[in-house]
Amino acid sequence: MSVLTDLARKLLPRLGLLVDHAEATRLTDAIEQLLREHDKGVDVDTRLAELFSSVPAIERHVSDALSDPRIPQKTPYEPLAGDGAGSSLQRYECPYGPHSTWFRSSLSQEVPLCAEHQIPLRLVPGR
Ligand SMILES: [Zn+2]
Repeated sequence: MSVLTDLARKLLPRLGLLVDHAEATRLTDAIEQLLREHDKGVDVDTRLAELFSSVPAIERHVSDALSDPRIPQKTPYEPLAGDGAGSSLQRYECPYGPHSTWFRSSLSQEVPLCAEHQIPLRLVPGR
């Protein structure tokens, strides 16, 4: 079990408090699907992180949880999965285009808003 799948399991019963009913239903389905894959041995951390990052209320909750000293297995500065030094950064761009780019090196970092559009930057898959 990773920090993220552990968080996801703890998050499930609280989704209704963090987002509206329709969003909670959508996220519950998505998280349960990823946890089922995780149970089969699939690494779902990246997709969980993307899912959490896509909803500001969840992103905040996860950031808070990762910095919570009561979680003994927290590893907030653990680099994201990558295939070698220098490739562990994930690139984020504004959904409207690459005028605003940001690199995330740790899951504890909150994804910033595009200064121009005031919406969260989006993860760019691959590079
Ligand atoms: Zn923008």
